[in-house]
Amino acid sequence: MTAAGASRRPITILGSTGSIGTNTLDVVERLGGREAFEIAALTGNGNIALLAEQAVKFGAKLAVTASDHHYSALKDALSGSGIAVAAGKSGLIEAASMEAGWVMAAIVGTAGLAPTLAAAERGADIALANKECLVSAGTLFIEAVRKGGGKLLPVDSEHNAIFQVLDENQRHALERIILTASGGPFRTWSLEEMASVSVATARAHPNWSMGLKISIDSASMFNKALEMIEAMHLFRLRPDQVEVIVHPQSVIHSMVGYADGSVLAQLGSPDMRTAIGYALSYPARSDLPVERLDFTKLARIDFEAPDPVRFPALRLAREAMEAGGVAGAVLNGAKEVALEAFIEGRAGFLDMPVVVEKTMDKLSSLPDAGSMDDVFAADEKARQVAAGLL
Ligand code: NDP
Repeated sequence: MTAAGASRRPITILGSTGSIGTNTLDVVERLGGREAFEIAALTGNGNIALLAEQAVKFGAKLAVTASDHHYSALKDALSGSGIAVAAGKSGLIEAASMEAGWVMAAIVGTAGLAPTLAAAERGADIALANKECLVSAGTLFIEAVRKGGGKLLPVDSEHNAIFQVLDENQRHALERIILTASGGPFRTWSLEEMASVSVATARAHPNWSMGLKISIDSASMFNKALEMIEAMHLFRLRPDQVEVIVHPQSVIHSMVGYADGSVLAQLGSPDMRTAIGYALSYPARSDLPVERLDFTKLARIDFEAPDPVRFPALRLAREAMEAGGVAGAVLNGAKEVALEAFIEGRAGFLDMPVVVEKTMDKLSSLPDAGSMDDVFAADEKARQVAAGLL
């Protein structure tokens, strides 16, 4: 709670109506709400009722829907409130460009790249949930943040865990990072069983409550694949320094291994508010009502190697990491098209990695990413090729 007269901290939430966005507003509320924070902008896409409700409740200056189609509904919902309204890609850039020193990047998919980049370029601290920024644009995105002068604060729970325990002063002794993966709902399923799964089964994550797309990506392990690429860029690692271990209980959020054999881990309940709160309060820590780990109730902690046959996504990620250039953008663009097709019933669950692999093979000789235009072009090309394969 800020003292009377103290200035409020201006922040923006891109993707405020989603799972990360609503959790972010929950943390904001618990850390003082409107008295502590000035909400510069909130953005959503189709959930206009929730976006309008959030904008009024938190007194946002600007509310933006990514969809031009929903502009008038948002305008009507906020008429008389004094809250400015915008729509479309330009509206998202306007939101990202508002005066706010901290921006939560929680739009799902490649749609989040341009607005997050706009916030990074003007020097905002970026709380990064949208992993696609790093998967697709990699070092170009890191460079944009560096030039802008803001901090990059990882929100993905695994990367936030590593961010919490990685000692930059001991980087010379850093050997590897180990990303943990729950294994998703199909961890113990056979290939035959996985061939005919429905969207409803695939989205039912055993431990985490997340948006639809990331839940299905967790089931196929494409989420972990994206996280491998994200981690390589974020922590400046070689591909062989990024490992994945299946850990079904999801209490160890990730680990860092050093040259003396020590392994440091961050643990906690599977609740994104810990990572969001850390990114919001960094370098301090906030008091959050997250369930505390009770080690006496945690009967066991298991580990197993990921199965490369049932989950080829991890191999594809490693290939993209080794290839470099625009391979991450190609993998992600093809994955988004295949995922959409699975959600709409036009592709089976196991078709997704096949489409991604074929697209990567067809586009293996695209030129390196010299600029963001190359990244967007590779993403577009991957989408065309993947769509043609479905
Ligand atoms: P959700 O699907 O729950 O929310 C996505 C947000 O993006 C919503 O605000 C949605 O608006 C908006 N949106 C959807 N499509 C577009 C578009 N085309 N242009 C602009 N905005 C759009 O996703 P999550 O919150 O689960 O995930 C957000 C990001 O964070 C993803 O990149 C995900 O990988 C990452 N992440 C998520 C975690 C989680 O626990 N959920 C954990 C770690 C990372 P609307 O709802 O109005 O349609």
